Amino acid sequence: MSYVDEVIEQVVSQNPNEPEFHQAVKEVLESIRVVVDQNEEQFRRDALLERLCNPERQIKFRVPWIDDKGQVHVNTGYRVQFNSAIGPYKGGLRLHPSVNIGIIKFLGFEQIFKNSLTGLPIGGGKGGSDFDPKGKSDREVMAFCQSFMSELCKYIGADTDVPAGDIGTGAREIGYMFGQYKKLRGLFEGVLTGKGLSYGGSLARTEATGYGLLYLTEKMLKCHGVDMKGKTVTVSGAGNVAIYAIEKAEQMGAKPVTCSDSTGWVYDPDGIDVAALKEIKEVKRQRLTEYKKYRPNSEYHEGKGVWTVKSDIALPCATQNELDLEDAKMLVANGVIAVCEGANMPTTAEATKYFQENNVYFVPGKAANAGGVATSALEMSQNSERLSWSFEKVDGELKGIMVRLYHNIDDAAKKYGFEGNYVVGANIAGFEKVVDAMNAQGIV
Ligand code: NDP
Repeated sequence: MSYVDEVIEQVVSQNPNEPEFHQAVKEVLESIRVVVDQNEEQFRRDALLERLCNPERQIKFRVPWIDDKGQVHVNTGYRVQFNSAIGPYKGGLRLHPSVNIGIIKFLGFEQIFKNSLTGLPIGGGKGGSDFDPKGKSDREVMAFCQSFMSELCKYIGADTDVPAGDIGTGAREIGYMFGQYKKLRGLFEGVLTGKGLSYGGSLARTEATGYGLLYLTEKMLKCHGVDMKGKTVTVSGAGNVAIYAIEKAEQMGAKPVTCSDSTGWVYDPDGIDVAALKEIKEVKRQRLTEYKKYRPNSEYHEGKGVWTVKSDIALPCATQNELDLEDAKMLVANGVIAVCEGANMPTTAEATKYFQENNVYFVPGKAANAGGVATSALEMSQNSERLSWSFEKVDGELKGIMVRLYHNIDDAAKKYGFEGNYVVGANIAGFEKVVDAMNAQGIV
């Protein structure tokens, strides 16, 4: 049995009931097979893949908090510090009822390669809790965040592990967590990114993941002779990534016509009104049912359905495995040219394969959504310098990073004979840098 297959088997048997983690490991190891095969003897002797697939550290803890009626609740907190070969652990905190150790491990594993692709010195980590901020008062969210940070603060720091936002963790949650860290550790330092502008946050961080997704998509299409202007775009999600992907797509002259949340989706034939979407989601924290009040011509549908709408470009920006084989078939039948992942692993393995077989340009999240973590790293740089850069400077750096990242994954795919396969390109390019650093640092 090949070394890659052996390690995949081992990961599945040693981490039972963690299907998302298995999925992420299989995707990465399958696509770096060509590199591993060339170095099989050395990698096997050094147990390189076993070390890569085992987190350096996993922290799991109790998070008790009191609701507005005086009832005590207990959630579970996690931080997986996966790989620090190229820098301090870096990755978001997800607050969603679906969170479990397998989800955090899949996200942390992906983060290693994503962070490597940015070209910046950041290792891979991820964390979160099964707490659901939805429907909670600000005081309840604060109570949870303070309790969560009371334990997490023992394991993080500006030079060791720097968490950020993710699903359910926005500016409000980061603010409460930062305040608690500062109180307990007595340190005003860049321990979290995604902070408010008045206490060390970076301009353009809010926009970064969505904008970066579009910078990469535009560059890739341009290299294939396709112009973004006038293209119809379908977007899923209505959170941080989706909102700023829609905004930048409109600025580029394309027409995003959909968005969604966990209860339903919107089709707006005239193009999504991004100001209305921000008001509903960022200010009022409402459901998408409200959108029709702003745009009477739009349609609201319960459940799932964004991928049934005809489009040239599809940008899944909600959550993992939200675009399956049936959706992929529908998109291809409707003539989709490109699918670029704003979310982490939103496309199932079967759907990815279907896109690739049908010559759809497909860019995986670890490359396409890397603008968020890249700008988080720029926030860390600003905190270290005790300076704040202008919006234009951060946005310009972000654009440069996404364009270089595209060329990097394109070159890696070509070098190994997989031209146009950006899954292989991203995994190999991300892997090579991490492996080089791991080898240089010995068996640790
Ligand atoms: P938000 O919490 O801001 O938004 C998530 C959106 O997806 C919401 O509209 C939410 O709907 C929807 N959603 C979440 N879970 C589900 C589900 N199980 N089924 C259907 N819809 C769902 O998160 P972000 O925009 O920050 O993150 C979106 C994705 O992008 C995630 O995969 C995240 O890991 C990834 N990502 C985020 C980055 C960032 O900088 N924010 C960076 C890189 C990747 P509802 O509100 O109804 O739950």
